[in-house]
Amino acid sequence: MDHRLVATLDMARGFSELFVNRRAYTIQSLRPHPESGRHYYYRPKAREGGEPVELTLDTVRRHLAGELTIGIYAINPSTQRSKWMAIDADYKQALEDLIKVQRQLQDDGIDAGLEKSRRGGHLWFFFETPVLARDARIYIHHVASTLNVHVKGRGLADGIEIFPKQDQLRPEEFGNAIRAPLGVHWGARESRGWRDWYYGADYNLDDQFAYLRGLNRVQEKHLQRMIAGKTFPEGSEDCVRRVDPSEPIVSRPGDFRILDYVEVRRQVGRNWVARCPSCAAQGHDRSGDNLAILVEEPRKYICWAGCTAPMIRAALGRPIPDRRSA
Ligand SMILES: [Zn+2]
Repeated sequence: MDHRLVATLDMARGFSELFVNRRAYTIQSLRPHPESGRHYYYRPKAREGGEPVELTLDTVRRHLAGELTIGIYAINPSTQRSKWMAIDADYKQALEDLIKVQRQLQDDGIDAGLEKSRRGGHLWFFFETPVLARDARIYIHHVASTLNVHVKGRGLADGIEIFPKQDQLRPEEFGNAIRAPLGVHWGARESRGWRDWYYGADYNLDDQFAYLRGLNRVQEKHLQRMIAGKTFPEGSEDCVRRVDPSEPIVSRPGDFRILDYVEVRRQVGRNWVARCPSCAAQGHDRSGDNLAILVEEPRKYICWAGCTAPMIRAALGRPIPDRRSA
């Protein structure tokens, strides 16, 4: 089945104006991974070993046309700001939670558009001018906390995921990308792609764009009024102390410590979070959060994608010694 539609550069301009915060982007592999069957996202390069290419209007047009599928980043690192906020929910009660959040936003004077996804959806709202990622995140954490909607953390139960996922980025960082709306989705088990649309309009590009343009955009001063005097609510994952990755970690010679080899991104609950070296060796875990290292006992670590300790050690060039031959 063919998912291609006619998309124009004007549509691509409209899309960029709404969604594009920076020129870095990801693209979904058209070929499934031979083992997992998943279509992973990666940052496209013009040639092997070269610099990643930047997003162009024609690439956006091809995304809308269904020729390829892109992922977009939430934060512009030069301003730490975002044009939008997206709430991703993909679990049994996902739609109920999203509709609760959408209603609360409406009460706060914010139009949010609900985009369908396989098991749940993405709820999007837009800012009149880009706002600090941290401000938007404080607001939505309070909404979730008021509604008793759980925000997903590492190793915790189901919950919503909030984009931007970071308060701020260092210049070399990208944060987490989200699948760009209005394109084709390639899943793990399906042999073909499909389109997910916003519920609020007919399922064609013209009507979807008209719908998105019609959503009111939140003014920064309105957002600031709503979070005046607030920080992250008690108990949210962002409440925990940030780890300073430059803290030296002393280890005895010959003693393997995972923290000597990975760069800690942040602390979530009882874990430090980092890019899994084994995933990284295969070009995966670009969001850099697959590896969880127990803060209290940093010898204990786990890759959420399923890499084993021997795989991780091998990827670091420090294979686990074979005791029988030692
Ligand atoms: Zn891994």
